[in-house]
Amino acid sequence: MRWYYTLQLFRNKRIRVTNQGDIESGNVQAIILPRAEHGLSRASISSSALKVLYRLNEAGFQSFLVGGGVRDLLLGREPKDFDVATDAHPEQIRQLFNSCRLIGRRFRLAHVRSGRDVIEVATFRAANELPGGVETVQVEHNDEGRILRDNVYGTLEEDAWRRDFSVNALYYDISDFSVVDHVGGLEDLKAGMLRLIGDPEQRYREDPVRMLRAVRFAAKLGFRIHTDSEEPLWELGHLLDDIPAARLFEEVLKLFLGGSALATFELLRRYDLFQFLFPLTDDALELEEQGFPITFVARALENTDKRLAENKPVTPAFLYAALLWEPMRLQMQKLMAEGMGELEAAQVAGNRVTAEQIQYTSLPKRFSFPMREIWMLQSRLERRRGKAPHRLLEHPRFRAAYDFLLLRAEVGEADPELADWWTSFQELNKVEQPPAVEPTEPKPRRNRRPRKRKPAGQPDAGS
Ligand code: ATP
Ligand code: MG
Repeated sequence: MRWYYTLQLFRNKRIRVTNQGDIESGNVQAIILPRAEHGLSRASISSSALKVLYRLNEAGFQSFLVGGGVRDLLLGREPKDFDVATDAHPEQIRQLFNSCRLIGRRFRLAHVRSGRDVIEVATFRAANELPGGVETVQVEHNDEGRILRDNVYGTLEEDAWRRDFSVNALYYDISDFSVVDHVGGLEDLKAGMLRLIGDPEQRYREDPVRMLRAVRFAAKLGFRIHTDSEEPLWELGHLLDDIPAARLFEEVLKLFLGGSALATFELLRRYDLFQFLFPLTDDALELEEQGFPITFVARALENTDKRLAENKPVTPAFLYAALLWEPMRLQMQKLMAEGMGELEAAQVAGNRVTAEQIQYTSLPKRFSFPMREIWMLQSRLERRRGKAPHRLLEHPRFRAAYDFLLLRAEVGEADPELADWWTSFQELNKVEQPPAVEPTEPKPRRNRRPRKRKPAGQPDAGS
């Protein structure tokens, strides 16, 4: 058990130093930083989250901001979303909010909609084990130790112990604006340290996705992973095989579309975890570790980060197209060596690679279709004669395919001269050809307000 933290940094605050003796006796106390002693201000919390926090509190429930919201605000970063923890049970939460949906089976949660935001409201959950190794509740596990169901409600302290990393288990109390820390999260936050709460191997076994979360937070926050939390990463990656492909798809999006894709990729490779998400790509990268394939993936991810930093759109279709390009290319080459024509080979290889990949991380059809189009268009981009290039310009996926070609050219896998040709061709066409559909006057604005009760006998507007 590695439960002890010495909280010297905060010795002069309202500190109760937690020593190993305390912990082993289960007598763990919290650090409570009063309002004046931390930099988290209500002004940086979204108004929707504040509304939810106050509403719960006014109804007599405990109400805390928790998780990434508190962590990021204390670090002076903009949170991605706001999560709320409360002692109200899901049904009680539902009664308080009009637009509330209860979701989740493994963990039952409330989603409260406020304007365009969705605030996740979770009832305090009991930890399956408190410091000192005391089992508190029965949580359903499988043979590997994975948690199957965990809906036993508990206290704030228990809730803190069952969260993943200490820096994710800080609570901002809306009733007095203090920050509550039961697990040494404040100290770790100061030290830039990512530390799994509890016994790391057991916590990874309970939920192997925590390994991916470790990498994601380390990359995004620039934190070190504590040695104890780091060591099992090299050993336990195979547990990801048991995680449903749909959950891994969600996680892949968080890993690679969160603004730190390149750093995340490097860490995933360092901990041998990438192979459990993209085994075909990993094999292909191993084949030519020194060559352009790895540079291509790295460039594509760097480019994704850059686009996000510039508030440009990114799509899972392009991301997957890039991540799977090398296996796709190798498969295509193999088929062509067996005598298949280029377009057919692209089609067949695309289907095979997709079919295999979705066994690991799923990819909804709305992304896998455009992904394959981006691939198919790579061959068509080589045809520069006659009407073909003009027709290609009209293709809905042209822009993505062209961006993809630029990346390939940058790493020397496609002909840079071809990429330049397309750049000039588009320029020329902009000048010489009018846009396919030229709007002459502004389109009438559609009334988007949902139509309510229409008095009988009155005709529809516009009919
Ligand atoms: P971000 O929203 O920036 O990705 P986050 O820390 O808020 O980061 P969420 O996935 O939004 O992450 O989860 C909210 C909180 O719920 C986490 O901070 C953590 O306390 C807890 N949590 C989420 N997933 C797990 C998990 N797999 N195991 C234990 N606790 C978790
Ligand atoms: Mg969050």
